[in-house]
This record gives sequence, C-alpha cells and structure tokens, in this order.
Amino acid sequence: MGEKRRGTKPVGRRAVLIGGGAAVVGGAVLARDELRRAWYRVPGVEKDRVEGELDHVGAQWTAASRANWRYADRPDDFTIDRVVIHVVQGDYPTALKVFKDPGHGAATHYVVRKDGHVAQMIRELDVAFHAGDRGMNERSVGIEHEGFVDRPQDFTDAMYASSARLTAGICARYGIPVDREHIIGHVEVEGTDHTDPGPHWDWDRYMKLVRDAAAGGPRTSAS
Ligand SMILES: [Zn+2]
Repeated sequence: MGEKRRGTKPVGRRAVLIGGGAAVVGGAVLARDELRRAWYRVPGVEKDRVEGELDHVGAQWTAASRANWRYADRPDDFTIDRVVIHVVQGDYPTALKVFKDPGHGAATHYVVRKDGHVAQMIRELDVAFHAGDRGMNERSVGIEHEGFVDRPQDFTDAMYASSARLTAGICARYGIPVDREHIIGHVEVEGTDHTDPGPHWDWDRYMKLVRDAAAGGPRTSAS
C-alpha cells in the first residue's frame, strides 16, 4: 500500500497566479519575472496540463483517484531516475478499479494488460503512491502488470513486449540508464514488504526487450 495523503487544490491556486501580471505572495506584490521564480518553488503550477494528455504513445487514459497521487512538476522538482515494476495480484479491471478508489491510497502511473494494452492513470510529472516509500515515489514511474506473482503464465509475450517499450520510452524521456539499478522490482524498494513482481518475472528477458526497444529510438511524449 502507498502513502495516504490529502489532495491539494492546485488548479484554483494556479488560476489566481495566472490571473494578472503580478500577484500577492506572502504579502508582497511580485513582478512577472519574480513571480516566475516563485512559481518554480510551487510544484505543479508551472506546466500547463491538458485533460487526458498522455506521456506514452498508444496508452489509453483512465484517471486514477486524485487521492492516490500527488501533484508535482517532475522532472523539474524531482529527478526521475527509477522505473518500478509491479504485479497487480489481480486482473486488469481490478487494478483500474482499486486505483480509481480514493480509499485505496495507492496507484501506479501505468497498468499493462496481458494483451499488451497500456492504461495511463497518472501523468509522469506527478508522484504516484506506488512504492510505499516517499523518496522512491518521488523519483520513479510505476508500472503495474495484470496477473499474479505465482502464475508465470500471466506474463505473456505481448505483456513483456509492450511493457518493455513503455519502460524504454520512460528511460529515454528522462535519461535513465537501462540497467537493473534503475529498473527495479517493487520487492527491491528498501523497506518494502511487497514481493512483486515475484520469482517468475523474467528479468533477463525483460531487460533484453527494454534494451532492444531503447535501441530502436526514443519514444517521445505526445505532448
Ligand atoms: Zn507492487
């Protein structure tokens, strides 16, 4: 399970800041260029967001509950240098359902289905509560895979290939080295009691696929 935190209301705050050439911050009226520096210290208010905008070409947007992630401005406020691989311990519809549940307290950026279909539920610039560790959440993108850790047959060819393309794209976007130091399982997050993706996740096969996809050229954002 991830962190439980209350969401803020950044849209309203941004609307106030963008409303004019100057704004009152901490009692002082700031000129536009001073305000720009002030924006930098307020994660999430700098980048324009478009409803439904995707980071991974071909993914289908379906939003996680706002309670299961934190508004951020990555990679400007936090460096992204890890990809964390998860297995749902359930099927794809179950993953989407729980990540849309505000009471769940956790969600990943992506969910990969057995047929290779990818759902994006949280933007990569935001912090998903998936690793159970604040620091790891802030520095990583999380990918869930449909299935169970004790059912190797759940990890299909299509799933491996699609997930590898996704991970290669993430690595390309943020300059993350394609190696096992930077692409890790949830089980490898310090202090976790989670075991996913489990002993049947074929890391050698997966990493070869990621390297191959990475060599095929960077997948860029649709934005
Ligand atoms: Zn996990």
